[in-house]
Amino acid sequence: MRKTLLFLPGPVAVAESVLAAMARPLENHRGPEFAARLTRVADRLKPMFGTTGPVVLLGSSGTGGMEAAVASMFSPGDTLLACPIGVFGRRFAEIARALGCTVEVLDTPAGAALDPAALAARLEADTGKRIAGVLLTHNETSTGVQNDMSAYVAALREHGAISVVDSVSGFGASRFRMDEWGYDVVVTASQKALAAPPGMAMVALGARAIARLEASTCPRFYFDLKKALEFSKIGQTPWTPPISLVYALDAALDRYEASGVDAVVERHALYARAIRAAFEALGFTIFSRPGAHSVTVVAAAPPAGVDPGKLLDELRVERGIILSGGQAELAGKIVRMGTMGDISETDILGAIGAIEIALLDADAPVHLGSGVQAALRELIGKVGAPA
Ligand code: PMP
Repeated sequence: MRKTLLFLPGPVAVAESVLAAMARPLENHRGPEFAARLTRVADRLKPMFGTTGPVVLLGSSGTGGMEAAVASMFSPGDTLLACPIGVFGRRFAEIARALGCTVEVLDTPAGAALDPAALAARLEADTGKRIAGVLLTHNETSTGVQNDMSAYVAALREHGAISVVDSVSGFGASRFRMDEWGYDVVVTASQKALAAPPGMAMVALGARAIARLEASTCPRFYFDLKKALEFSKIGQTPWTPPISLVYALDAALDRYEASGVDAVVERHALYARAIRAAFEALGFTIFSRPGAHSVTVVAAAPPAGVDPGKLLDELRVERGIILSGGQAELAGKIVRMGTMGDISETDILGAIGAIEIALLDADAPVHLGSGVQAALRELIGKVGAPA
């Protein structure tokens, strides 16, 4: 079988130790060994969320975590302010609409981060406190944009609405300080910076969120954080959990902790800088605006005349390098390269080299080696520097 390397912004390349952990024989999901493991995994996730409050694990992808959060916090007819900066933020709004909430949207230009002043103005204008909740995206995977989550805290606190954050593709790759910042619910998933396979959502609940679990009346059964929280207290999930994925998550956390959070955060930022530098040197146009760049995914339009779809096909078929294309209105316009997962600097250099060859094959005016050199300059800091 041909060797391939995933540079998707999730699912990501998963380390062998994490894959191997899934081959362990199954345990009783209502027995003491598994309870200890589930509790340990949840406890190890807490510092990553920046919380001392509970973290519940759900057998679902990230979207299930988002649905559970909205359904468990709000009631039909509640007005929510959605602040999308791309496809996944719009999905958050759709979930809330589907559950019967009234959704108002604060729009942001594509490629930009949510403007803290715009959020503050919208919340200040809500003098009657109609807005019950605010839906935010930490890192928007479709546009390669990352919001500075510390920047919205003052306005949210002032208004008092419940804040629900999608940190599916931000969590673990940059610091999140849930308690310090005062976010109420934060959702993530296993297949991004945690570098485990897809299939688990993790939801952290603040004190105000826990209090609201009693009052919210959105229809829900499977995705019910109240039930999940009750069962988490005895090291269980309400429904049969994906046991093997919990093993994988445990092993992925071993790797995360062995590196240490500082090194992991620095690595993602470094990889993102290296990829952006290489793309720019090769004539790509970075989609995210300066100051709004994501550390987990670089979204960029290829040089004029190069079809993104053909570029992705050539990379996949000829080189075994798997990147993503654009979503929704960006389909056929951009490519997206992730920094998460078990990928090394050498892997990145190889992928950039492969992109150079694919550009050459597409007759793009490329100076061979310029992308690799730009990436190297970021990665090791000295290559190509004047003597
Ligand atoms: N939000 C963001 C920011 C994401 O990147 C994703 C996955 N790409 C999701 C939500 C949805 O997660 P899932 O695909 O795991 O349901």
